[in-house]
Amino acid sequence: MATSSVACLAAACALLVTGCDASSAESDAAIDARADTRVEEAGAGDPDAAIDAARDDAHALDGSRPGDASAPIDAACAADTSCAVVVRATPSIAPMPIFAPPVPRPESISSTFGPRWKTSADRYDFHPGIDWFDAEGTPVTAIGDGTVAGVYPDGSTQYPNGGNVVAVRHVLPAPFVFHGQTVDRVFAVYMHLASFAVGEGDSVTRGQTVGAMGRTGDTTFVHLHFEIRVQTLCSLPYQTANPEASCVTGFDPHVHPFLFVGGRDDDTITLEEIAPTPGDAWAARYRATRGDLDLDVIETDRGTIGFVERRGLDATSLDRLDDFRYGWVTLVPAPFGSRDDVLEVELHFPVRPAFLEVRDLDGSGLRLGERPAR
Ligand SMILES: [Zn+2]
Repeated sequence: MATSSVACLAAACALLVTGCDASSAESDAAIDARADTRVEEAGAGDPDAAIDAARDDAHALDGSRPGDASAPIDAACAADTSCAVVVRATPSIAPMPIFAPPVPRPESISSTFGPRWKTSADRYDFHPGIDWFDAEGTPVTAIGDGTVAGVYPDGSTQYPNGGNVVAVRHVLPAPFVFHGQTVDRVFAVYMHLASFAVGEGDSVTRGQTVGAMGRTGDTTFVHLHFEIRVQTLCSLPYQTANPEASCVTGFDPHVHPFLFVGGRDDDTITLEEIAPTPGDAWAARYRATRGDLDLDVIETDRGTIGFVERRGLDATSLDRLDDFRYGWVTLVPAPFGSRDDVLEVELHFPVRPAFLEVRDLDGSGLRLGERPAR
C-alpha cells in the first residue's frame, strides 16, 4: 500500500487521478473486511454500526487537467466538477511523524480530528483527537519514549467524561514554534481505557503497553480516544477559567495526531459545487476517503479556517468550538463511522466566494475558482 501511494504521488496523480483507483480500491476493500469483522464483534452496542454503510462510492474525478488551472467558479463548473485543480502549499506547521501510532490497527478510525457529526450524542462537535476502534482489551501503546504524566481513574475531576485516562509526556528532539511560542514537548492522552498498565511517573519506551482499550467514561462503544496536546495538558477553556494555573500557555494544545504519529495520506479527495440550499448563495461538497482523514485548511477570499492552528476558530469555549457557523461559511459534516469509506463535509456560503481551496496537513489539496496572486 505504501509503495503504491508513493508511486501515485510521485507521478503527480495525487488527488483524484484514475491511476490511483486500483490501489485505493484495494485498500478500501481491505478496510471493509476489517471493519465488517469489527462491527460483528461490536454488536448492537456500536453506534457506528447503526449508521447505514450504504453510501455513494468515493468516485474519483480527474482533477488534474492543467488547462483548468484558472477556471472560475462559474456555471461551467456546476456541470463539470472536474474543474477543481490540484494545489500545493507549504503548511505553517510541518508534519513531524517521529512517533509510532498508539494502536495495532491504525487504519481503524471512526472519528478523525476536526468538525464532525457526533453520532452517539446526536450533535455536531469539534473532535480534538482520533477515535481508534478495536476489540475490548486491545493493548494501546506508548508512541515513543516518555514519562507517564498522569493516570486518572474513571470519574476523575480532570477528565470527567474520559473514563480511565493515561497521559504520557514526550520530549521532542527538536523544539518548534507553535502559536508564536517555542515548544519542546507533547502529551499523548489515552481515554476510555478498560485498564491501566502503567503508573504516574513511570518511564515508558516506544511500543510499551500503557493500557487496554475499553469503553469507560462517556462513550457507547469500545475505542481509544487519542489526543496529542502540545506543551500543556490544559485545554484553552480550562486555561481561560484558571488564568493563574501553571499549565497556562494561552493556546489550545490539541493538534491532529497525524502531525506526530503519521497516518494514511492517499490524497484521494474530491471538491465539487453542489446545489445551494435556500438561503445560501453557493455550496460545495468535500469528500475524502478513509485514506485521507487529514483535512486542515479551508481558504477562500472571504475567510480562512485552519483546524490545527485554530485559524478563524474561537477555541476559548467548547460551545464556540462546536459551532461550525463561521459567518462566511457553515460546515455541515456528514456522519462517519467504522464502516464508512468516505468522509463528507458540505460547505454552505451566504456569499459566493471567488475561490475555494481545501488543503490537508501536508498542504496538498484542491481548488475551485481562480485564486488571486498571493
Ligand atoms: Zn473521541
